[in-house]
Amino acid sequence: MIQLKDVSKIYRMGTSEVRALDHASMEVEKGEFVSIVGPSGSGKSTVMNIIGCLDTADEGEYILDGIAIEQYSETELAGIRNRKIGFIFQNFNLLPRLSAEENVELPMIYQKVKTADRKRRVREALERVELTHRRHHRPAELSGGQQQRVAIARALVTEPSLFLADEPTGNLDSHTGEEIMELFHELHRAGNTIVLITHDNQVADEAERKICIRDGKVREVRI
Ligand code: ADP
Ligand code: ADP
Repeated sequence: MIQLKDVSKIYRMGTSEVRALDHASMEVEKGEFVSIVGPSGSGKSTVMNIIGCLDTADEGEYILDGIAIEQYSETELAGIRNRKIGFIFQNFNLLPRLSAEENVELPMIYQKVKTADRKRRVREALERVELTHRRHHRPAELSGGQQQRVAIARALVTEPSLFLADEPTGNLDSHTGEEIMELFHELHRAGNTIVLITHDNQVADEAERKICIRDGKVREVRI
């Protein structure tokens, strides 16, 4: 499903350079729930950007679903992201002027899904995250946990190959965080592939497998 082979990413600033990823290799199989865990500055955002096709590696190879990502243009990558990846962010990234159901519907509008199909899938997705009763509310009228549920519904509605979550519980209290983690377990049980990126070991331990990253190196893969 995902293969990073000897991937490096180098940021240059004037004469200095930072190797944010240093010959990092990892594999994630279809249907796996994997966490990538490391302290601040270890390279998590960088690896998230590469796995999410938001940025490309300077060295090495990234293969997503059999596609070697480096050969694609920005525009093509945007299409790949849209079709294949369901992003879930720490700060939810919902559009503030749209209601919960409009936020969930949006990626299907980009994908040109027919109206009736869209409406049905929005309904099903909001049921799955137990937010039907809040469907007309805007993000500001929802709690953090509810906003993250909307974001998860928005991710799952397009049936992505990969759910890519960046500190999804980072802005939530621990009880709400646990409820959100339960939704990830449900997605996993339903056969989805999940990569969760976090600095929090306790959150990382919820996955089936943990990939540790430090100073841009994949240090340890504990099963
Ligand atoms: P994390 O998400 O684990 O905090 P990052 O991937 O953001 O780590 O950063 C890894 C390293 O690369 C850090 O030393 C950071 O300062 C550096 N870095 C990240 N992005 C940039 C950038 N755009 N320009 C320069 N240095 C960067
Ligand atoms: P996170 O909280 O997700 O780890 P970071 O604070 O590490 O986020 O980084 C947020 C964004 O800022 C990253 O995507 C990265 O590109 C950029 N960034 C991180 N460190 C630096 C840096 N030293 N110089 C410039 N940009 C950076």
